[in-house]
Amino acid sequence: MDIKLSLSAICEVVCADKKLFGDVNYITTDSRDIRPGCLFVALRGENFDGHNFIGNALLQGAQYAIAEVKGDYPKDRVLYVGSTEKALRRIAALYRAQLTTKIVAVTGSVGKTSTRDMTAAVLSAGYKTIKTEGNLNNQIGVPKTVLGIESTHQAAVVEMGMSGFGEIEELSLCARPDAAIITNIGVSHILKLGSREGIFRAKTEITAGLKAGAPLILNGDDDLLITYRNSRFNIVYFGIDNPACEVRAQDIISNDHTTSFTIIYNSRSIPAVIPTMGRHNVLNALAGFTAGVLLGVEPESAAKALAEFAPTGMRQKIVDCGGITIVEDCYNASPDSFVAALNTLKDRSCTGRRILVAADMLELGAISSKAHYNVGILAGKLGIDAVYAYGEMSKHTIIGAEDSGVCDAKYFDSKRKLASYLIANANKGDILWFKASRGMKLEDVIQTVYEER
Ligand code: ATP
Ligand code: MG
Repeated sequence: MDIKLSLSAICEVVCADKKLFGDVNYITTDSRDIRPGCLFVALRGENFDGHNFIGNALLQGAQYAIAEVKGDYPKDRVLYVGSTEKALRRIAALYRAQLTTKIVAVTGSVGKTSTRDMTAAVLSAGYKTIKTEGNLNNQIGVPKTVLGIESTHQAAVVEMGMSGFGEIEELSLCARPDAAIITNIGVSHILKLGSREGIFRAKTEITAGLKAGAPLILNGDDDLLITYRNSRFNIVYFGIDNPACEVRAQDIISNDHTTSFTIIYNSRSIPAVIPTMGRHNVLNALAGFTAGVLLGVEPESAAKALAEFAPTGMRQKIVDCGGITIVEDCYNASPDSFVAALNTLKDRSCTGRRILVAADMLELGAISSKAHYNVGILAGKLGIDAVYAYGEMSKHTIIGAEDSGVCDAKYFDSKRKLASYLIANANKGDILWFKASRGMKLEDVIQTVYEER
C-alpha cells in the first residue's frame, strides 16, 4: 500500500459508528506489523482474537483501530463496525479504486495457484507484476493481497478461493478485476454447494466485480463452463479438446521435466514450453497466455514467458533420487487433481514402474470413501503398476486398486512403514508419484526416502 486513504472515506464504506478525519498510510491486521500512522484492523480468527492486541497496536504507533467489540480505548482512535472482516474487504475495495493496476482474478476448483503463477509469468513479460502470495486466496487473504499492491505495479494476479455461495462475489467486488479466469468446475466443496451446478454458480460469481466488456476467460473443455452465457463480458474460451475455443493447444509433447505444445491463437501457431507436466498444466498455461495477450502482452512474448513459470512449492516438483524419479505433489489433493495426476503419470515415459504413493484427500465428508475408491479404480484403468497408500481413508483407494486389477496394491498403517518399504523396494527407473492433501504431510515420507535411500 503506497497511496493514502482518507479516514472519512473509510468511515463511510465500513459504516463506522462515527466519523473521523485525517489520512491512513497503511492498513494491517497483524500487531507485529505496526507502522506509525497505520490503521489496525482487529480480526477474530479461530485461534486468535485481534481485539486482544488493540491496546498494544495503539501504543506501538497505530493511529487508529477498527473493532467489533467495544473496549476502553481513546474515543477518537477506534472505529466500531459490525464485522471487521467485511470492513477489511471494503477498505481494500476503496484502495483498489485508487489504483490503475490491471487486475486478473483467478478462480476455479483446481489449478488456481498454478494458473495464477503462469498468468503472472506472462504478464511479467510486459508489466511490473505482483501476485497473491502463498495461498492467501480467502476472504481475508484477498483483501490483504489487494492492499499489498502498490501504485507502481502495472498488473496483479489475484487468486480467489471459496467454500460457499457469496464468497467469490465479495472478493470480486473487492478486487474489481480487469479480467477473470475460471480454470474448471470440479467437485471440491460439493457438500456445501450441493452439486457441480452449484459450484458453477458459485465460481461464476467472479463476474460480480468484473468490469463491463472485460475478458472472462473460461475453460472451453469444461462441460459446464462452455454453457456460460453473459453478454456483459468478452467471453474467451481456451482448451485442448474443444475445437471451438479461441485459444487452443495442439501437438502436446511430454518431455522429462517439461511439456511442449503449440498455441493456436488468431490463426497463428506459436510454440510454447512449460517447465512442468501434464495436460492440466497446458490448460493452466493457455489461461495465463490468454489473460496476458488480452491485456496487451505480445503473443510471442507471452508464449516465451511461460517457460519462466516456477511451480509453487510441492506442486508436482520432480526430483531425481539416485535414478528413481520422485514427483512431490503433496500440497493439495482432490478427486479432480488425482485424475490429473494419474493421467500425467500414465503419460510419462518410464523404464521402470509407474507407482502412485497416496495418502488421504481431506474434507470430502460423505463422498470421501467413494472418492478414494474411485482413485484406486482409475489407477487400475490407466495401467498404473503399483499403488501404495497410507491414511484411514486411503484403505478405500487400495480396495479400488485391487478391484480394478492393480497387482501391487499395499496399505501401510504408518508413514515409517511406507517409507521403509519404498526404500527397500523402489528400483532405478521407477517413478514414484506422491499425492495427498496438505494435512497428511506426506512429504515426511519423501524426506525419509531422500535421507535413507
Ligand atoms: P487450492 O484450493 O489449495 O488453492 P489450487 O486451485 O490453487 O488449490 P493448485 O495448487 O494449482 O490448485 O493445484 C492443486 C493440485 O491440482 C495439484 O496437485 C495440481 O497438480 C493439480 N492441478 C493443477 N491444475 C489443474 C487442473 N487444471 N486440473 C486438474 N488438476 C490440476
Ligand atoms: Mg491455491
